[in-house]
Amino acid sequence: MSGKFYIRTFGCQMNEHDSERIAGSLVKEGLSRASGIDDADVVVLNTCCVRENADNKLYGNLGHLKAIKESRPGLKIVVAGCLAQKDKDLVAKKAPYVDMVVGTFNSTRVGRLLSDIRSGSTLVEIWDGPKPEEGLDNALVAERDSAYSAWVNIQTGCNNNCAFCIVPAVRGAESSRPFGEIVKEVGALARSGVTEVTLLGQNVNSYGRDLTLAIRQGRIVGDVEYIAGDIWTDSPKRRPAPLFADLLRAIGSISGIRRVRFTSPHPKDIRLETIAAMAEVPSVCEHLHFPLQSGSDSVLARMHRGYDSHRYLTQLNSARESIPDLAVTTDIIVGFPGETEADFEATLEVASAAEYDGAFTFIFSPRPGTEAEAMVDLAVAPEVIAQRFEKLKVVIDRSGYAKNLARVGRVEEVMVEGPSKRSNDVWSGRTRQNRLVHFPAPRAIDDPKSQGAFFTPGSYLDVRIDYGAPHFIRGEVVSVNYLPKAERPRILVASS
Ligand code: SF4
Repeated sequence: MSGKFYIRTFGCQMNEHDSERIAGSLVKEGLSRASGIDDADVVVLNTCCVRENADNKLYGNLGHLKAIKESRPGLKIVVAGCLAQKDKDLVAKKAPYVDMVVGTFNSTRVGRLLSDIRSGSTLVEIWDGPKPEEGLDNALVAERDSAYSAWVNIQTGCNNNCAFCIVPAVRGAESSRPFGEIVKEVGALARSGVTEVTLLGQNVNSYGRDLTLAIRQGRIVGDVEYIAGDIWTDSPKRRPAPLFADLLRAIGSISGIRRVRFTSPHPKDIRLETIAAMAEVPSVCEHLHFPLQSGSDSVLARMHRGYDSHRYLTQLNSARESIPDLAVTTDIIVGFPGETEADFEATLEVASAAEYDGAFTFIFSPRPGTEAEAMVDLAVAPEVIAQRFEKLKVVIDRSGYAKNLARVGRVEEVMVEGPSKRSNDVWSGRTRQNRLVHFPAPRAIDDPKSQGAFFTPGSYLDVRIDYGAPHFIRGEVVSVNYLPKAERPRILVASS
């Protein structure tokens, strides 16, 4: 099959990576990337239902595509992902001009299903759960957006039941990928030039827990893919029920991998072994995203988060004590149903004590099908939420700003991302702590004034920080420490 495809992704990193795997399934069928909708033969909308108004956004986009399809009847429209999983047949009913609807468990079948599309009808394939033969085994064919930094799924689904969250309904129960398969994938990525990996899961700290159960039940005894330890060490620690810490150690020891990140750990499941692995494995970055959601114990209980504020702060402090220079970020919801002024004050207190480096703050909005959706009687007034939101932002920005100011004068290792959003003269990158850094653009390699300041996306630099703002830091390039394989300049040697 020939033609070009364009994928528009909504939502989180998990969805971004799913889109890379959908792209892989299309490339496998012979299609190539389009530069936009205008030159695409297949347009995929990979949807999210976590944010408010997701439905409106999807149908708005579909309305726009309908008009294009009227002038280009050959255009194929595909809807994939969480909203498709949640709404099942509804998408085809509301937008009958859509050619294919696939859910979260089979989104990578988009490529294979293209030839089954029949004009005048919508092909709907929504699975209720993963099928082992289709699961994540195609990760290696993912068409990744970056050649240097890669997302790697280690688990899908979630066994928790946070009252505000729709993820378990659309992504199913927790399912860990085999240990050996993940290690092999990262090994292959490293050989292709990737130096940074981010391990993805809804609750990475419980990685392997479902495998323990399966092994106890005798379902996967002897399957070496599931065994942790034999790949990264021949020590007696080898065990058939891998922990997330084992995975961090295994991934962190792969040659060529300079940075290992992960998201997200659940505070109720973080283990001492994970903190120890973060402290001991040099490539695991000093950054912990640790979602608080609320600082009020009664709100946390009604959210079913499984920890209270004291336990949360105790774990946070122990991580900071064990891991020097640890940056901590979080997620906080403002205005969960029934949140009183005292509850919100408790959130401010915990946020203040936690001294976050940054936070994603959200205004509560009910997601259809969640427990919190039924709490309408307890809804907090929008104007009260707006005031609380601003107060929280002040606390978060204060600590984030202080942390950024404290970097001034230091030399930070930065992985280059590319030109900044505002100017080609300024480039951006990330420190190990995931801080956004701006620095002067590279000079051309043949510029005599280059003085070694040639670098490309994927390079690692030392940058001396001279300015701190609430959401970024800035500095001058001190040295270029690593150039990606493809970009290493050849050194000319005079021949005799
Ligand atoms: S841990 Fe809670 S918030 Fe996170 S995905 Fe699972 S249910 Fe949703």
